[in-house]
Amino acid sequence: MSPSDSNTPTPPTLQRDADVWIEDGNIVLVAKRSVAFRLYRGLLAYHSTVFRDMFSIGSAGAEDDEKMDDIPVVHLTDPPDAFRLFLLVLISSGFSTPRWSHAKLPRQLSFPMFDAIMRIAHKYEATHVLPLLSCLLGEMADQSRRGPWGDNRVDLSDDDAFAGSRVTLYFSNDDAIDALDLTRHVGAEPSIVAAMLWQCCIQGPIYLRDGITHDADGVVRRLSEEDYVRCVRALPQLLLARRDMVLQTALSSNSLVARRPCGAKSPTCAEAFCDKYARNLPPLNLTSEGSGEVIPYDGELLWHWSRSCMCQGCYGWLLQDLRVAFKTYWCSDLPKIFQLESIST
Ligand SMILES: [Zn+2]
Repeated sequence: MSPSDSNTPTPPTLQRDADVWIEDGNIVLVAKRSVAFRLYRGLLAYHSTVFRDMFSIGSAGAEDDEKMDDIPVVHLTDPPDAFRLFLLVLISSGFSTPRWSHAKLPRQLSFPMFDAIMRIAHKYEATHVLPLLSCLLGEMADQSRRGPWGDNRVDLSDDDAFAGSRVTLYFSNDDAIDALDLTRHVGAEPSIVAAMLWQCCIQGPIYLRDGITHDADGVVRRLSEEDYVRCVRALPQLLLARRDMVLQTALSSNSLVARRPCGAKSPTCAEAFCDKYARNLPPLNLTSEGSGEVIPYDGELLWHWSRSCMCQGCYGWLLQDLRVAFKTYWCSDLPKIFQLESIST
């Protein structure tokens, strides 16, 4: 991240980036000694604490003579493709550059690329962009709680960092271990880390043990031994905690379903539901086939038999009760079950 090898001349193979080369830019950044980006110091300093400090102490290009088109050069070790996207995100998010406005973010953002951008943003302390990228991790965590990712996507049009760019983030089951690693790297909160561990758990025992080999680079991603043990230990507790939470919610005298009885039935709809639920627990990797827009707590009630034992009114009330209860389960119970509190200190 700091200027290095100041006496080494710029290699002749240096390629000027086609997207990020602003003619009146006043700094040149060279990624991995191969691709050069020219842009404004002010933009970098506005977005990144690390660049701001670098420029304010005058080390950028001051101590060495390396220049390109008479502009100071700073060498960086980041992969050029990811660094280009990082710069494009900076440029397209809230720093007006009227003389240059053709930030060309790709329509499709793969998880590995998002991963790389977020690590770069974290490394350079990009304080404006990082919270927005963290929101995307939060979105992935939300999707994780709904069941196996499969081939999932998040439309980023509403996200400030990608506003108007119509970018879609793509991620799949294969990315669960990398996503877990990323949450740790950027210091995400325990509920987000737990959601990624949960995603690993619902991929099944072979995934937990052997991980996954990525087609792109042939590298095997595997859980650390510590996380493997964490997941295996958590599995039975996850099921039991969820069962208890669903039953307690349905039978609580404070629940909406209890306070709005549909009649003097015995057993009540909620009791009938609990009886069947306790005898026929849904699996951990509960998926909702057929229904496109499923929210996590829906899964419990969409479990194939549940509608048949409740009237429509009670079904609706219990759905609302579970919505509240599941929030606690995801945000508070899961981090405890995965013992994330103990490692954060
Ligand atoms: Zn009822």
